[in-house]
Amino acid sequence: MNLREVRQTGLLLNGDPEDKGCTGFDPGQSPKVDLAALMAPIQTTETLPDANGNLVTSQTPASNVVSMKNNSKHALTLVPHTPPLNNIDDPTIRVTVSPQTLPADGRYHDITFTGVAASLDRPVRIEAFDNITAENLGDILQVDVKSWHRWFIDYYAVSELNGSLQPTPPLQQTLQDQFDRIFRSQANLGFTFTNKGTVADHYDVSPHDGNLRVSFNSLNKVCFLGWAALGASASDPSCVKDTELTPMYQRMITAQQQAAGQNPIDLDNPDMFYLLFFKQFDVNTIGGWSSTALDKRRLPSVVHTNYADFPNLLDQDKFVAVATAHEIAHKLGQADHVTSTKDVTGGPDANAVYLMFTPLSINRDTVSKRGDDKRYPCRLRQEDWNNVNYVYPTPR
Ligand SMILES: [Zn+2]
Repeated sequence: MNLREVRQTGLLLNGDPEDKGCTGFDPGQSPKVDLAALMAPIQTTETLPDANGNLVTSQTPASNVVSMKNNSKHALTLVPHTPPLNNIDDPTIRVTVSPQTLPADGRYHDITFTGVAASLDRPVRIEAFDNITAENLGDILQVDVKSWHRWFIDYYAVSELNGSLQPTPPLQQTLQDQFDRIFRSQANLGFTFTNKGTVADHYDVSPHDGNLRVSFNSLNKVCFLGWAALGASASDPSCVKDTELTPMYQRMITAQQQAAGQNPIDLDNPDMFYLLFFKQFDVNTIGGWSSTALDKRRLPSVVHTNYADFPNLLDQDKFVAVATAHEIAHKLGQADHVTSTKDVTGGPDANAVYLMFTPLSINRDTVSKRGDDKRYPCRLRQEDWNNVNYVYPTPR
């Protein structure tokens, strides 16, 4: 049996085709994956206001497709089953397969998998049976069924009080396009962005150097950004204080709370994240920061928009939007990265198709050697789509 990814067209809201490699199919190169895996959305609709403010119901992604070639002598029947957990069977049908019969003609056929009941704690597996002998030929694919969820993101451009250090956030449409490209087909997640405009704040004080102070590396660590702003104590004993982001964020939240009086602010919505764009960090090689702790979602995701020596061949809007998606994937719970030393054979460049690739590097020399799919990486592994759309503990 050979399996092949299928590029689906027309799935995105704007009608653009999905990118090959970013369709919710994990071919399974990773040593953590024993079978190829597919993210199959559970069939559902959602209700959202249209441009005129009228509520309309729209279909969310409901199916995914894998192309399969049957190399055996007989036609095969494909049957979903959920392996028992702790010796307890789960007879619920969680995925439908269409068509269920795969002819033995040596050609690829597109098979559609639709989630019809939520996954509980493990992937559904697809078993192949010989149509003539009824022999069970074993599992050929695992399918993670994901429920639909929509998140809301308020984003701000943070400048200095005197108007300097203005960041250049991506266009809202660019953010929307990249988040749709990455998360709809691979994690069954939707995003609604609200541009909250510029926040002017005198944050550049410690040190006063024209950059947001960030400290990620242990040697000169100041703090994990932002934790103290929400009353959470820093977990790292070497953390003394966060000199710039925490005070800035605290002032912003306090001002919102004072303006709202007794009413909630946007951040009180549990489906809401705040995203702050800054012009530059003092660590120019880092694109952004998010806490991956699910109970720290009131902390902002932070992305910087300007880079020294930004390569001319890159679209800055699109690149920063992808870096933002990388940070939001962390925010949703994916703490791990694909690195050049694990997960995928073929060296660092083979890994660069993954959204959660460690460097997400804009190094001029590196990027200029990459194809377009690696300049704006979008692919999620099975581990990634499970973590960002959390349904069950990753089984291995
Ligand atoms: Zn990262």
